[in-house]
Amino acid sequence: MVYQAKSDRYATMKYNRVGRSGLKIPAVSLGLWHNFGGVDSFENGRELVRHAFDLGITHFDLANNYGPPPGSAETMFGQLLATDLKPYRDELVISTKAGYYMWEGPYGEWGSRKYLISSLDQSLKRMGLDYVDIFYHHRPDPDTPLEETMMALDYAVRSGKALYVGISNYRAPEAKEAIRILKELGTPLLIHQPRYSMFDRWIEDGLQDVLEEGGVGSIVFSPLEQGLLTNRYLGGIPQDSRAAGASIFLSENSITEEKLDKVRRLNEIASDRGQSLAQMALAWVLRGERVTSVLIGASKVSQLDDNVDMLKRLDFSADELARIEEILK
Ligand code: NDP
Repeated sequence: MVYQAKSDRYATMKYNRVGRSGLKIPAVSLGLWHNFGGVDSFENGRELVRHAFDLGITHFDLANNYGPPPGSAETMFGQLLATDLKPYRDELVISTKAGYYMWEGPYGEWGSRKYLISSLDQSLKRMGLDYVDIFYHHRPDPDTPLEETMMALDYAVRSGKALYVGISNYRAPEAKEAIRILKELGTPLLIHQPRYSMFDRWIEDGLQDVLEEGGVGSIVFSPLEQGLLTNRYLGGIPQDSRAAGASIFLSENSITEEKLDKVRRLNEIASDRGQSLAQMALAWVLRGERVTSVLIGASKVSQLDDNVDMLKRLDFSADELARIEEILK
Protein backbone atom coordinates (compact mmCIF):
# COMPACT_ATOMS: atom_id res chain seq x y z
CA MET A 1 0.00 0.00 0.00
CA VAL A 2 1.23 3.50 -0.76
CA TYR A 3 2.51 5.15 2.40
CA GLN A 4 0.84 8.35 3.48
CA ALA A 5 2.36 9.94 6.55
CA LYS A 6 -0.04 10.71 9.41
CA SER A 7 -1.36 14.24 9.23
CA ASP A 8 -0.89 14.76 12.98
CA ARG A 9 2.75 13.63 12.98
CA TYR A 10 4.02 16.94 14.36
CA ALA A 11 1.47 17.17 17.19
CA THR A 12 3.43 15.71 20.11
CA MET A 13 7.14 15.45 19.28
CA LYS A 14 9.49 18.00 20.82
CA TYR A 15 12.14 19.54 18.54
CA ASN A 16 15.37 20.81 20.05
CA ARG A 17 17.80 23.28 18.53
CA VAL A 18 21.17 21.72 17.74
CA GLY A 19 23.71 23.84 19.59
CA ARG A 20 23.84 27.35 18.18
CA SER A 21 22.77 26.28 14.69
CA GLY A 22 19.56 26.94 12.81
CA LEU A 23 18.66 23.24 12.75
CA LYS A 24 16.23 21.49 15.09
CA ILE A 25 16.05 17.73 15.52
CA PRO A 26 13.53 15.62 17.42
CA ALA A 27 14.18 14.86 21.10
CA VAL A 28 14.00 11.19 20.01
CA SER A 29 15.88 10.08 16.88
CA LEU A 30 16.02 6.60 15.36
CA GLY A 31 19.24 4.77 14.52
CA LEU A 32 19.51 1.97 11.96
CA TRP A 33 22.53 0.18 13.42
CA HIS A 34 20.62 -3.03 14.30
CA ASN A 35 17.44 -4.50 12.75
CA PHE A 36 17.77 -2.84 9.32
CA GLY A 37 20.46 -4.96 7.67
CA GLY A 38 20.29 -7.38 4.75
CA VAL A 39 19.82 -10.21 7.27
CA ASP A 40 16.78 -8.54 8.86
CA SER A 41 13.13 -8.44 7.81
CA PHE A 42 12.63 -5.65 5.27
CA GLU A 43 8.95 -5.40 6.19
CA ASN A 44 9.71 -4.93 9.89
CA GLY A 45 12.29 -2.26 9.09
CA ARG A 46 9.81 -0.50 6.85
CA GLU A 47 7.13 -0.59 9.55
CA LEU A 48 9.59 0.85 12.08
CA VAL A 49 10.65 3.74 9.84
CA ARG A 50 7.07 4.56 8.81
CA HIS A 51 5.86 4.43 12.40
CA ALA A 52 8.77 6.56 13.60
CA PHE A 53 8.03 9.26 11.03
CA ASP A 54 4.33 9.14 11.97
CA LEU A 55 5.41 9.86 15.56
CA GLY A 56 7.32 12.96 14.44
CA ILE A 57 10.75 11.32 14.39
CA THR A 58 12.26 13.26 11.52
CA HIS A 59 15.86 12.21 12.10
CA PHE A 60 17.26 8.86 10.94
CA ASP A 61 20.87 7.97 11.71
CA LEU A 62 22.95 5.66 9.55
CA ALA A 63 26.60 4.84 8.86
CA ASN A 64 28.47 3.32 5.94
CA ASN A 65 29.01 0.05 7.83
CA TYR A 66 25.54 -0.57 9.32
CA GLY A 67 24.06 -3.93 8.36
CA PRO A 68 25.07 -6.70 8.38
CA PRO A 69 26.41 -6.95 5.76
CA PRO A 70 28.06 -3.50 5.89
CA GLY A 71 26.24 -1.04 3.67
CA SER A 72 22.96 -2.94 3.69
CA ALA A 73 21.18 -0.61 6.14
CA GLU A 74 21.83 2.29 3.75
CA THR A 75 20.63 0.19 0.81
CA MET A 76 17.49 -0.71 2.75
CA PHE A 77 16.88 2.90 3.72
CA GLY A 78 17.42 3.93 0.09
CA GLN A 79 14.68 1.51 -0.97
CA LEU A 80 12.35 3.01 1.63
CA LEU A 81 13.15 6.49 0.44
CA ALA A 82 12.31 5.48 -3.10
CA THR A 83 9.02 3.78 -2.23
CA ASP A 84 7.77 5.62 0.86
CA LEU A 85 9.70 8.70 1.91
CA LYS A 86 10.77 10.55 -1.25
CA PRO A 87 7.82 13.00 -1.04
CA TYR A 88 8.97 13.83 2.49
CA ARG A 89 12.70 14.35 1.80
CA ASP A 90 12.61 17.97 2.93
CA GLU A 91 11.02 16.91 6.24
CA LEU A 92 13.87 14.51 7.01
CA VAL A 93 17.29 14.84 8.58
CA ILE A 94 19.36 11.89 7.34
CA SER A 95 22.85 11.31 8.64
CA THR A 96 25.63 8.93 7.75
CA LYS A 97 29.20 8.37 8.92
CA ALA A 98 32.58 7.04 7.90
CA GLY A 99 35.44 6.03 10.16
CA TYR A 100 35.22 2.31 10.88
CA TYR A 101 36.40 -0.48 8.58
CA MET A 102 34.45 -0.53 5.34
CA TRP A 103 36.58 -1.97 2.57
CA GLU A 104 39.89 -3.70 1.96
CA GLY A 105 43.20 -1.91 1.53
CA PRO A 106 44.67 1.25 3.03
CA TYR A 107 41.78 3.57 2.07
CA GLY A 108 38.84 1.74 3.63
CA GLU A 109 38.76 3.10 7.21
CA TRP A 110 39.91 5.81 9.66
CA GLY A 111 40.13 9.50 8.74
CA SER A 112 41.93 10.34 5.50
CA ARG A 113 40.31 12.64 2.97
CA LYS A 114 40.67 9.80 0.47
CA TYR A 115 38.54 7.46 2.60
CA LEU A 116 35.96 9.94 3.85
CA ILE A 117 34.98 11.40 0.50
CA SER A 118 34.84 8.10 -1.37
CA SER A 119 32.84 6.57 1.47
CA LEU A 120 30.37 9.47 1.41
CA ASP A 121 29.97 9.02 -2.36
CA GLN A 122 29.23 5.33 -1.82
CA SER A 123 26.68 6.14 0.92
CA LEU A 124 24.87 8.62 -1.32
CA LYS A 125 24.70 6.03 -4.08
CA ARG A 126 23.35 3.33 -1.76
CA MET A 127 20.65 5.64 -0.42
CA GLY A 128 19.87 7.21 -3.79
CA LEU A 129 20.41 10.69 -2.34
CA ASP A 130 22.02 13.85 -3.71
CA TYR A 131 23.12 14.89 -0.22
CA VAL A 132 22.92 13.84 3.42
CA ASP A 133 21.92 16.31 6.10
CA ILE A 134 24.75 15.40 8.46
CA PHE A 135 28.04 13.69 7.63
CA TYR A 136 30.06 12.41 10.58
CA HIS A 137 33.58 11.32 11.18
CA HIS A 138 32.71 8.14 13.10
CA ARG A 139 35.77 7.80 15.37
CA PRO A 140 39.00 9.72 15.93
CA ASP A 141 42.02 8.63 13.90
CA PRO A 142 45.27 8.81 15.90
CA ASP A 143 47.44 8.80 12.76
CA THR A 144 45.80 11.24 10.36
CA PRO A 145 46.29 14.96 11.09
CA LEU A 146 43.01 16.31 12.45
CA GLU A 147 43.28 19.17 9.94
CA GLU A 148 43.02 16.71 7.04
CA THR A 149 39.94 15.00 8.48
CA MET A 150 38.24 18.30 9.22
CA MET A 151 39.11 19.63 5.76
CA ALA A 152 37.43 16.56 4.29
CA LEU A 153 34.26 17.33 6.31
CA ASP A 154 34.41 20.96 5.21
CA TYR A 155 34.77 19.80 1.59
CA ALA A 156 31.75 17.48 1.97
CA VAL A 157 29.65 20.55 2.77
CA ARG A 158 31.22 22.83 0.14
CA SER A 159 30.70 20.24 -2.58
CA GLY A 160 27.02 19.92 -1.68
CA LYS A 161 27.26 16.30 -0.54
CA ALA A 162 26.32 17.21 3.07
CA LEU A 163 24.56 20.14 4.73
CA TYR A 164 26.23 19.88 8.15
CA VAL A 165 29.08 17.96 9.76
CA GLY A 166 29.48 15.97 12.96
CA ILE A 167 32.01 13.96 14.91
CA SER A 168 31.46 10.84 16.95
CA ASN A 169 33.34 9.18 19.79
CA TYR A 170 35.82 12.09 20.12
CA ARG A 171 37.06 12.80 23.66
CA ALA A 172 36.92 16.34 25.06
CA PRO A 173 40.39 17.60 23.96
CA GLU A 174 40.03 16.18 20.43
CA ALA A 175 36.53 17.63 20.16
CA LYS A 176 37.78 21.03 21.26
CA GLU A 177 40.45 20.98 18.55
CA ALA A 178 37.95 19.81 15.91
CA ILE A 179 35.61 22.68 16.86
CA ARG A 180 38.48 25.17 16.51
CA ILE A 181 39.63 23.88 13.11
CA LEU A 182 36.14 23.69 11.63
CA LYS A 183 35.34 27.19 12.82
CA GLU A 184 38.45 28.47 11.04
CA LEU A 185 37.44 26.62 7.89
CA GLY A 186 34.01 28.26 7.99
CA THR A 187 31.99 25.06 8.44
CA PRO A 188 31.06 25.06 12.13
CA LEU A 189 30.75 21.70 13.85
CA LEU A 190 27.01 21.01 14.20
CA ILE A 191 26.91 18.01 16.51
CA HIS A 192 28.79 15.38 18.46
CA GLN A 193 27.55 11.80 18.75
CA PRO A 194 28.91 10.16 21.92
CA ARG A 195 27.63 7.20 23.94
CA TYR A 196 25.70 8.23 27.05
CA SER A 197 23.31 6.53 29.45
CA MET A 198 22.73 6.01 33.17
CA PHE A 199 25.39 3.28 32.98
CA ASP A 200 27.96 5.21 30.93
CA ARG A 201 28.45 8.82 32.00
CA TRP A 202 31.88 9.67 30.58
CA ILE A 203 30.65 12.76 28.70
CA GLU A 204 29.82 14.49 31.99
CA ASP A 205 33.56 14.70 32.65
CA GLY A 206 34.53 17.57 30.34
CA LEU A 207 32.99 16.82 26.96
CA GLN A 208 29.63 18.42 27.72
CA ASP A 209 31.36 21.64 28.79
CA VAL A 210 33.42 21.73 25.59
CA LEU A 211 30.31 21.27 23.46
CA GLU A 212 28.36 23.92 25.33
CA GLU A 213 31.19 26.45 25.00
CA GLY A 214 31.52 25.66 21.30
CA GLY A 215 27.78 25.93 20.60
CA VAL A 216 27.74 22.31 19.45
CA GLY A 217 24.76 19.99 19.95
CA SER A 218 24.86 16.39 21.11
CA ILE A 219 22.93 13.30 20.10
CA VAL A 220 23.69 10.38 22.35
CA PHE A 221 23.75 6.75 21.30
CA SER A 222 22.72 3.63 23.21
CA PRO A 223 20.80 5.69 25.81
CA LEU A 224 19.05 2.44 26.82
CA GLU A 225 22.37 0.53 27.03
CA GLN A 226 21.18 -1.52 24.05
CA GLY A 227 18.04 -2.57 25.91
CA LEU A 228 19.49 -3.25 29.36
CA LEU A 229 17.92 -0.07 30.78
CA THR A 230 14.40 -1.30 29.97
CA ASN A 231 12.23 -4.10 31.27
CA ARG A 232 13.54 -6.35 28.45
CA TYR A 233 15.84 -8.50 30.60
CA LEU A 234 14.03 -8.43 33.93
CA GLY A 235 12.52 -11.87 33.48
CA GLY A 236 15.48 -13.57 31.74
CA ILE A 237 16.86 -13.25 28.22
CA PRO A 238 14.07 -13.28 25.62
CA GLN A 239 14.68 -15.27 22.42
CA ASP A 240 14.05 -12.27 20.17
CA SER A 241 16.32 -9.86 22.09
CA ARG A 242 19.63 -8.33 21.01
CA ALA A 243 21.48 -10.22 23.75
CA ALA A 244 20.15 -13.57 22.52
CA GLY A 245 20.88 -12.76 18.86
CA ALA A 246 24.04 -12.63 16.79
CA SER A 247 25.07 -9.12 17.82
CA ILE A 248 28.62 -9.05 19.10
CA PHE A 249 27.92 -5.81 20.96
CA LEU A 250 25.61 -7.13 23.68
CA SER A 251 26.29 -10.63 24.92
CA GLU A 252 24.32 -12.68 27.43
CA ASN A 253 27.42 -12.70 29.67
CA SER A 254 27.43 -8.91 29.93
CA ILE A 255 23.98 -8.97 31.57
CA THR A 256 25.30 -9.62 35.06
CA GLU A 257 23.29 -10.06 38.25
CA GLU A 258 24.91 -6.88 39.59
CA LYS A 259 23.59 -4.84 36.64
CA LEU A 260 20.17 -6.50 36.82
CA ASP A 261 19.95 -5.58 40.50
CA LYS A 262 20.44 -1.91 39.59
CA VAL A 263 17.95 -2.23 36.75
CA ARG A 264 15.33 -3.66 39.14
CA ARG A 265 15.84 -0.83 41.61
CA LEU A 266 15.67 1.79 38.84
CA ASN A 267 12.53 0.12 37.57
CA GLU A 268 10.90 0.72 40.97
CA ILE A 269 11.60 4.45 40.75
CA ALA A 270 10.21 4.49 37.20
CA SER A 271 7.00 2.81 38.41
CA ASP A 272 6.67 5.38 41.18
CA ARG A 273 6.89 8.04 38.46
CA GLY A 274 4.22 6.26 36.42
CA GLN A 275 6.74 5.51 33.65
CA SER A 276 8.38 2.48 32.10
CA LEU A 277 12.08 2.12 32.86
CA ALA A 278 12.91 2.90 29.20
CA GLN A 279 10.99 6.16 29.50
CA MET A 280 12.74 7.15 32.70
CA ALA A 281 16.18 6.25 31.31
CA LEU A 282 15.58 8.47 28.27
CA ALA A 283 14.11 11.37 30.26
CA TRP A 284 17.11 11.17 32.61
CA VAL A 285 19.51 11.53 29.66
CA LEU A 286 17.64 14.67 28.56
CA ARG A 287 17.55 16.19 32.06
CA GLY A 288 19.02 19.67 32.36
CA GLU A 289 18.71 20.15 28.58
CA ARG A 290 22.37 19.38 27.96
CA VAL A 291 21.61 16.70 25.35
CA THR A 292 19.84 17.61 22.10
CA SER A 293 18.44 14.18 21.19
CA VAL A 294 18.40 10.59 22.41
CA LEU A 295 19.39 8.24 19.59
CA ILE A 296 17.49 5.04 20.16
CA GLY A 297 17.28 1.72 18.39
CA ALA A 298 14.14 -0.41 18.17
CA SER A 299 13.15 -3.88 17.00
CA LYS A 300 9.38 -3.38 17.38
CA VAL A 301 6.98 -0.49 16.80
CA SER A 302 5.66 -0.88 20.36
CA GLN A 303 9.14 0.13 21.60
CA LEU A 304 8.93 3.35 19.56
CA ASP A 305 5.57 4.17 21.15
CA ASP A 306 6.89 3.43 24.61
CA ASN A 307 10.01 5.54 24.10
CA VAL A 308 8.34 8.57 22.56
CA ASP A 309 5.78 8.57 25.36
CA MET A 310 8.57 9.56 27.76
CA LEU A 311 8.01 13.13 26.56
CA LYS A 312 4.93 13.21 28.79
CA ARG A 313 7.12 13.17 31.89
CA LEU A 314 10.54 14.77 31.47
CA ASP A 315 10.93 16.48 34.85
CA PHE A 316 12.61 14.92 37.90
CA SER A 317 12.25 15.90 41.54
CA ALA A 318 15.45 16.40 43.55
CA ASP A 319 14.47 13.35 45.57
CA GLU A 320 14.11 11.16 42.46
CA LEU A 321 17.49 12.29 41.15
CA ALA A 322 19.10 11.53 44.50
CA ARG A 323 17.54 8.04 44.61
CA ILE A 324 18.85 7.37 41.09
CA GLU A 325 22.35 8.59 42.00
CA GLU A 326 22.35 6.27 45.00
CA ILE A 327 21.71 3.29 42.71
CA LEU A 328 24.20 4.34 40.02
CA LYS A 329 27.12 5.15 42.32
P1 NDP B 1 19.46 1.73 22.54
O1 NDP B 1 20.27 1.84 23.78
O2 NDP B 1 18.23 2.56 22.41
O3 NDP B 1 19.08 0.19 22.36
C1 NDP B 1 18.09 -0.21 21.44
C2 NDP B 1 17.55 -1.59 21.79
O4 NDP B 1 16.92 -1.55 23.07
C3 NDP B 1 16.46 -2.02 20.83
O5 NDP B 1 16.99 -2.65 19.68
C4 NDP B 1 15.66 -2.97 21.69
O6 NDP B 1 16.35 -4.20 21.82
C5 NDP B 1 15.72 -2.31 23.05
N1 NDP B 1 14.61 -1.38 23.30
C6 NDP B 1 14.40 -0.14 22.76
N2 NDP B 1 13.31 0.42 23.28
C7 NDP B 1 12.80 -0.45 24.17
C8 NDP B 1 11.67 -0.42 25.04
N3 NDP B 1 10.88 0.64 25.09
N4 NDP B 1 11.45 -1.50 25.83
C9 NDP B 1 12.26 -2.58 25.78
N5 NDP B 1 13.35 -2.67 24.99
C10 NDP B 1 13.61 -1.61 24.19
O7 NDP B 1 20.32 2.13 21.29
P2 NDP B 1 21.28 1.33 20.26
O8 NDP B 1 22.37 0.67 20.99
O9 NDP B 1 20.43 0.51 19.37
O10 NDP B 1 21.87 2.55 19.44
C11 NDP B 1 20.99 3.47 18.82
C12 NDP B 1 21.63 4.11 17.62
O11 NDP B 1 22.79 4.84 18.01
C13 NDP B 1 22.14 3.16 16.55
O12 NDP B 1 21.12 2.66 15.72
C14 NDP B 1 23.11 4.04 15.81
O13 NDP B 1 22.40 4.89 14.94
C15 NDP B 1 23.72 4.86 16.94
N6 NDP B 1 25.01 4.31 17.39
C16 NDP B 1 26.14 5.04 17.11
C17 NDP B 1 27.38 4.58 17.46
C18 NDP B 1 28.58 5.43 17.14
O14 NDP B 1 29.71 4.95 17.28
N7 NDP B 1 28.39 6.64 16.71
C19 NDP B 1 27.56 3.28 18.15
C20 NDP B 1 26.32 2.63 18.46
C21 NDP B 1 25.10 3.13 18.08
P3 NDP B 1 15.83 -5.58 21.23
O15 NDP B 1 16.46 -5.65 19.89
O16 NDP B 1 16.38 -6.58 22.19
O17 NDP B 1 14.35 -5.54 21.18
